[in-house]
Amino acid sequence: MPARRRPATLIALSTLALLVGAVPAHAGQVQAEQALPAPTCSEKPRELPVHEFTDHRELGVELDRVARTSAGRVRVDLLGRSNRGREIWGARVGTGRKVVLLTSEIHGNEKTGTDALLSLLDWVGTSDSAKARRWRSELTIVAVPKMNPDAAELDRRANDMTWDEVTARFPHLRGSGPSWNYYTGSVQGDDYSARPGFDINRDYHPNLDYVPRKEDFPGTSTRPGWYISPETRIIRDVYRGLTAEFGKVDTYIDLHHQGACYVMPDDHDRFVTLSISGKFVDNPATTPGLEEYAGKYDLDYSKRLNVAVHNALQAAAANRPVFGNVTLYPQDTNLPGTGLGSFALNGSGTVLFEVRGQTQTLGQQHRATLTRAVYIGLDGVLSSIASGQVHQLSPADYDRIPPRGPNIGEPGEDGGHTADDVREFG
Ligand SMILES: [Zn+2]
Repeated sequence: MPARRRPATLIALSTLALLVGAVPAHAGQVQAEQALPAPTCSEKPRELPVHEFTDHRELGVELDRVARTSAGRVRVDLLGRSNRGREIWGARVGTGRKVVLLTSEIHGNEKTGTDALLSLLDWVGTSDSAKARRWRSELTIVAVPKMNPDAAELDRRANDMTWDEVTARFPHLRGSGPSWNYYTGSVQGDDYSARPGFDINRDYHPNLDYVPRKEDFPGTSTRPGWYISPETRIIRDVYRGLTAEFGKVDTYIDLHHQGACYVMPDDHDRFVTLSISGKFVDNPATTPGLEEYAGKYDLDYSKRLNVAVHNALQAAAANRPVFGNVTLYPQDTNLPGTGLGSFALNGSGTVLFEVRGQTQTLGQQHRATLTRAVYIGLDGVLSSIASGQVHQLSPADYDRIPPRGPNIGEPGEDGGHTADDVREFG
């Protein structure tokens, strides 16, 4: 367990300024004290326990157990190894023609998705309910939980692959600079100076046969990536294999976390539990270099999928209101180097989950609730695909999902809330 984060400096957010703003100037002290205090929250990185989440060793044990108890319904394959040699496993269940690919923990400090995927695999592999049978007959589900185990074991956003390791694998890249997503400073409280690494969620390219070219470095966030990491090449190979087998990958879902302190736009006392999105790239028809993907790109289908997620969580909110705090992730991103961006350009419907709080701000606090929120959303969208109901949903309902409200937290480093808040995924 690396101890890189600075000790916590917990400063409770003063409610005074909010109260002064909310109460008429002549209101007395008593009235001010009767007002509800705004919730406090901080984006300052802290060192927090995460042992309740599933680590890499436990993931291997759990996948083995799920495969055994499913009586062969869930097949677990070793897909390959990470840069540091850790196993990356894929779990496949179902015999349907509609293929759903799911990944979690590409950012190692965003861990609920792995636990939600394990629960989902366990259920679909063992349940004899009509719903589970329908999933297995209509869908082929391929899940790659903890696809970035090196970053996950470091409990940080990026892996610890060095540029020298990249050029050892790709000698023709020697002499070009590291790609722009190479961290060598401080990010989210983690000091990368002694142990640099890449945010590999910028390493994808919509051309699935792309091989890295020297002239494409260092690149920018608005350009595709390069498949320089073993982990993204593994996911690319899975995607390419499924495309060859089925003609297309119907849906790709990627599970992330965002800042801890976003609030609902109409109620700043309620934190956003989950932001979702189906839009990650500019319209390829009018984007130089991406025109060839315009024919396959289907933003409306991605919107329908997200509506299915939203509807499931709103239904669950009848019993637990926290599940209703769902917002749309910012829609002005243009990130073709993300898995979601690259696979959307290849014709898959796409869903981004951004659940509340990375480990440097929440640790394992709210783990069960947030994992449950992810599970409910996944259950909703997979059920909708399996039944075909997704095609009856309206893209216009996606546009009516409320946007994220402001981040009310004490700012993290660099005056920002996280490294992700400006046109970056959490
Ligand atoms: Zn993320």
